[in-house]
Amino acid sequence: MNAPQTSNDASDRPGTNGSPTACPACGSRALDPFYTVEQVPAHSVLLMRTREQARDFPTGTLRLAVCADCGFISNTAFDPSLQDYSTEYEETQGFSGTFNAFHRRLAEDLIQRHDLRGKRVVEIGCGKGDFLHMLCDLGGNTGLGFDPAYVPERDPGGRDHRVRFVQDFYTETNAPSEAHFICCKMTLEHIPDVARLVRTVRRSLGSRTDTTVFFQIPEVRRILRDRAFWDIYYEHCSYFSAGSLGRLFRQQGFDVLDLWTDYDDQYLMIEARPAPGPVHRSHPEEEPVSALQADVADFAARIGEVLDGWRHLLRVTQRNGQRVVLWGGGSKAVAFLTTLGVRDEVAYAVDINPYKRDTFLAGTGHRILSPSDLREQPPDVVIIMNPIYRAEIQRDLHAMQLAPALFHIDLNPLDSLALS
Ligand SMILES: [Zn+2]
Repeated sequence: MNAPQTSNDASDRPGTNGSPTACPACGSRALDPFYTVEQVPAHSVLLMRTREQARDFPTGTLRLAVCADCGFISNTAFDPSLQDYSTEYEETQGFSGTFNAFHRRLAEDLIQRHDLRGKRVVEIGCGKGDFLHMLCDLGGNTGLGFDPAYVPERDPGGRDHRVRFVQDFYTETNAPSEAHFICCKMTLEHIPDVARLVRTVRRSLGSRTDTTVFFQIPEVRRILRDRAFWDIYYEHCSYFSAGSLGRLFRQQGFDVLDLWTDYDDQYLMIEARPAPGPVHRSHPEEEPVSALQADVADFAARIGEVLDGWRHLLRVTQRNGQRVVLWGGGSKAVAFLTTLGVRDEVAYAVDINPYKRDTFLAGTGHRILSPSDLREQPPDVVIIMNPIYRAEIQRDLHAMQLAPALFHIDLNPLDSLALS
């Protein structure tokens, strides 16, 4: 989603060249690898203007390992030098009504619970600025956002002088010390050295203990349980559960106030405050490392069967001459196609973000079109890349008088086949 907020300096990590030998969260050396995918596009949401550019895009290796001491999961083969976050980084979900409703509800909830009125709000990894503007508009707050992918021309409230943006990473040197509220949404998962970012936030606050810090990231236990391989991609080098996230924040000097999930349990949220001294008390939502390890073992044992099921389904639809289209042209689509090695079995992808129209998915080079293009090339099968948008997608298809078979990404493909 949003760009990472530390520089890509890997020099302080042991065994650089993408092979840390220590857990980036707790420093333990007990890392157990459990899932590998080769030749994964290094970026999945940069706009690719030609099919050649998309197919030739640099790739890296995904090698997930779980830390036996804190439960943090990371891509131990991650090479930060392959990452280039620029204004071509197209992460916004702001074209979806479902997502906007969630965003607004979250902003209103944060404002109310933390009395964010007339306060100073900082957002690390603010993307195009939508959420920061919302917090400032709804609460009459002043805002400061950090993101190298911020685009002034795309700023929804560009003339609002209460909100300022730094088109750069958040670092030790530019981190503001005065903030009532610091939020960081969908960013920590892009950062290899997770402990350093959390430490930077903690240090920036010094002796202040009244600042609330809010982080939102994908929740990894759902990914493991759903065997959601489409939610594992190169930009996401860091994967947290409530337990590993709580442990990291406590280790870096925060009191964990709350830990919960939202958005169909896809997102994990944490609220914390700087603690004056060491914190030992864990939050009740923090699961033990052994519970996470059990999820990891189950994922590792069954992921092959899920991948085989999808490949089988796509062979059948191809044999039947059915036109298969993905609804969603973001990271999930790239991960789905590249992990399965899909070529002609899928015709194209559609995305409601108009900036993506006529661009191409990194790796396989499938074209992205707009939903309205479905009229010209009607699909027989639509695979919904994010089931939370199902109602929205069904409504749009219905309005175009299209009635393709709908497959859900998170259903067992063999069950989907039985339904078709
Ligand atoms: Zn660890």
